[in-house]
Amino acid sequence: MESKNNNSDIPSATCPFCSKITYNPNDIANQYCANCKCFYGDIIAHANIAKNAGPEAISALRKIVEAAHEHLKNLPTN
Ligand SMILES: [Zn+2]
Repeated sequence: MESKNNNSDIPSATCPFCSKITYNPNDIANQYCANCKCFYGDIIAHANIAKNAGPEAISALRKIVEAAHEHLKNLPTN
């Protein structure tokens, strides 16, 4: 009755764009996605703009984000 899901006790945040779940306290505090290398708010802001503009803008945004992912993969980490 009192039993809880183990996972429910661990703070987590889910990226609204790539659905990656983070348990990193800093990322949660900053609402930051290490996968997207972007703050959730930034992603949502861009996604909302695209949503209002229609499906073509959404697919264009997806391509931009995917291209950014590829670009970031190629950057040196230090
Ligand atoms: Zn993400």
